[in-house]
Amino acid sequence: MRPNSPLHLGHYFGALQYWKKIQYEYDCLFMVADVHSLVQNFNETEKISDCVNNMVINWLAAGIDPSQATIFIQSKIPEQYELTALLGAITPLSWLERVPSYKEVIDELEHTDLNTYGFLGASLTQSADILMYNVRHVLAQEEQIANLELAREIARRFNHLFGREDGFEHKAQESIKKLGHKKAELYENLLLKYQQEGDDEALERARFMLHDALNLSHGDRERLFAFLENKGKVFLNEPQLMASPPVKIIGLDGQQMSYQANNSINLRDTPELVSSKVRAMTTDPARIRKTDRGNPESCPVWTLHQIYSNEEVKSWVELGCLSAGIGCLDCKGPLIDAINLQQSELIENAKPYQDEPTLVKRIITDGCLRARDIASDNLKQIKLAMNLEY
Ligand code: SF4
Repeated sequence: MRPNSPLHLGHYFGALQYWKKIQYEYDCLFMVADVHSLVQNFNETEKISDCVNNMVINWLAAGIDPSQATIFIQSKIPEQYELTALLGAITPLSWLERVPSYKEVIDELEHTDLNTYGFLGASLTQSADILMYNVRHVLAQEEQIANLELAREIARRFNHLFGREDGFEHKAQESIKKLGHKKAELYENLLLKYQQEGDDEALERARFMLHDALNLSHGDRERLFAFLENKGKVFLNEPQLMASPPVKIIGLDGQQMSYQANNSINLRDTPELVSSKVRAMTTDPARIRKTDRGNPESCPVWTLHQIYSNEEVKSWVELGCLSAGIGCLDCKGPLIDAINLQQSELIENAKPYQDEPTLVKRIITDGCLRARDIASDNLKQIKLAMNLEY
């Protein structure tokens, strides 16, 4: 997540709620993408440090648990810069130029400050962010799928160019032994079935067994995956998309919520601010006077009721709006209360981190150390594959 601006309800429901859930199901890495935020805001760097701090506090307040997930900052992992440079050597320029997030806006940027190498290279940097950690899944939304596909293409190209390590067959035999006697025998049987008879079920069973073999290191496991399919070693995983459920939060003006559009309710806004923002919120244009009947389906306030209100309140709104039995300010009352109830929890949860800034620093430092451990191990393997370890 880029620390460009304060987080709002769109971030809370569109990302953080889902992160909170999956942190208990996967080993999650949550990255503060500060280098990415430079690409579009390189002339406003004085705000980055506050944005990073506030963003991490909001993550923690929303329930991201540093004992479950790794929270780290992109610019604190120098291995990522190194990997970006190495991957840049093998990435055709045309692959970067055709990424929609670049292609669709470059013409508009021709006479602006943003016609930079950083903007062209942003999708390569993003690929390095992903490939650095050999992740299996990447949480992404619809508009980021092309960027993920680029990372997968680069991984494929890398494995194709550098995938066969010296003495691969011998090393694969050594890795098989590490499975233990029974599993090694099963692996070899399944390998034969797949390679000699083309039995896809055998391939699946072998893959499943390797996933489950906890005593294997990452390197051994990847080597045995590659050995199964008679390929070289896979140095870079091709990550799969993990689509987060699409949640579109409507802003105060009826458009998608965004801080830049000045239509957002931000996380930890005060009760007074929430109240004044919601009271000023756009409603069904048919309701000019209180006696005019309206339709909740044409009203942005209704979309927030869908999230915040129980069935009883929603029925009251529907009935009252359709019959002009309630005014818009009446309708907004329970919504303001519900948003403020949630905000008060966030404010309460954030308090210890605001009172004790070293707490946040420690969480970030620990997360960065964990991320660097993974990154430096992987970078060593990558450089070895590229014959750069001398
Ligand atoms: Fe919107 Fe509620 Fe007013 Fe109906 S009564 S137009 S739902 S704010």
